[in-house]
Amino acid sequence: MLVRNIYDTPMKPVDMPGVKGAMMAVMVGRGDGAPNFALRHFTVAPGGNTPRHSHDYEHEVFVVEGTGTVMLDGEERPIKAGDVIYVPADKEHQFRCTGRGVGIRFLCLVPVSRNCGEVTPGSG
Ligand SMILES: [Zn+2]
Repeated sequence: MLVRNIYDTPMKPVDMPGVKGAMMAVMVGRGDGAPNFALRHFTVAPGGNTPRHSHDYEHEVFVVEGTGTVMLDGEERPIKAGDVIYVPADKEHQFRCTGRGVGIRFLCLVPVSRNCGEVTPGSG
């Protein structure tokens, strides 16, 4: 049985062009033998952002803590703890932390393999 806590799992800086103050941990994924999905935990520090990017797979995102914005396909909206965001494949997206003091924390689900069969980056 795999049980991990997001508050106890070490995080690494997100290493992508355009990122600022974002950290990630793969909570469960390919490295754990999961055949289909990877669940990642992200934090973005106040004033920080994830890279503005798109890819050929979707994200399902759940905001655990904090406030920020999501830019999706040219539209920007505020997000807060408890919100769920669906990011369809091939739509440009970016998360920002607009809160003061506390960062934004969210879980993000991805397939472990892309449509072409390659390993999804950050899927563990
Ligand atoms: Zn993405």
